[in-house]
Order: sequence, then structure tokens, then C-alpha cells
Amino acid sequence: MTFTLTQTHLDALHAHARETYPDECCGMIITRNGREEVVRVSNIQNALHEQDPEQFPRTAAIAYTMGPESAPVLIAAERGELALRAFYHSHPEHDSYFSAEDKKQALGGWDEPNYPHAAQIVMSVRAREVRATKAFAWDETVRDFVEVALRVTPE
Ligand SMILES: [Zn+2]
Repeated sequence: MTFTLTQTHLDALHAHARETYPDECCGMIITRNGREEVVRVSNIQNALHEQDPEQFPRTAAIAYTMGPESAPVLIAAERGELALRAFYHSHPEHDSYFSAEDKKQALGGWDEPNYPHAAQIVMSVRAREVRATKAFAWDETVRDFVEVALRVTPE
């Protein structure tokens, strides 16, 4: 399997990851009206942590929760008005792997992801530089996310 992304959009993801450093960034890659788009979403993890540190022990440095502006995009995806191609987030000062916590979040308490056809892109950011970008996809056979090739096309 391969996940394909344009160089322009890969650059947009990297710019987002650098801007939110040392916190995680998050967002989505969608196709709407035949065009690929990067949708930036705010990471509200710090606000949740401040309100309720017991329920949300992790800060935005090591976790993300997508802000409410993600809801209309997800609803439009469920209605078939756009295609949700991938979710992305960054790992400040950590490698670009799909963590157990990431898997738990993608599954949302079920045994398969809420969006099984959406890839997951994870960027490793160290000292505000993106060091690695990897793509993962749900593998129905092994019931887990596996790394897939990330193909970048010129635009
Ligand atoms: Zn993660």
C-alpha cells in the first residue's frame, strides 16, 4: 500500500508541525470537489489538561485532541460530501511511529478505527525541524495500523 501526497501539501504539514512546536499539531488531508486540501485543526489538549488534569493527564507536548472545527469536516465526510484521506499529527522530540495511544485514539474504544479508510501521518519534529514523516494505514488482516510507503508527487 502507498499513500500519495503532493509536495506542496507535505510542505504544508511540515510548516504546521514547526509552527506548533514544542506542541503537537493535528489536522486532516481531504479531497473535496476533486481537489486535495490540508485542513489544519487546533490542538485543544492543553485546555483540556488545564480544566481536568486527572482525566487529561497529558499535555499538548505529547498528545492531541482535535478542536471543534474538525466536526463539520468529519460530518461532511460521513455524508460523502468529501473524502477523508488522512489524519496527521506531530511528535515533538519523539520518533514518527504510530503509538499505542495513537491507536487507542483512532479506535475510539472499538475494535476497528472510526475511519478505517483514512491513513495516519506522523511527523517527528526535533529542535523545530521535521526529521521524518511516515504514513500508516489500517490493516484489516492484522487488525492494526501498519506503515505504508509515502509517495510524494511534484505539483
Ligand atoms: Zn502520536
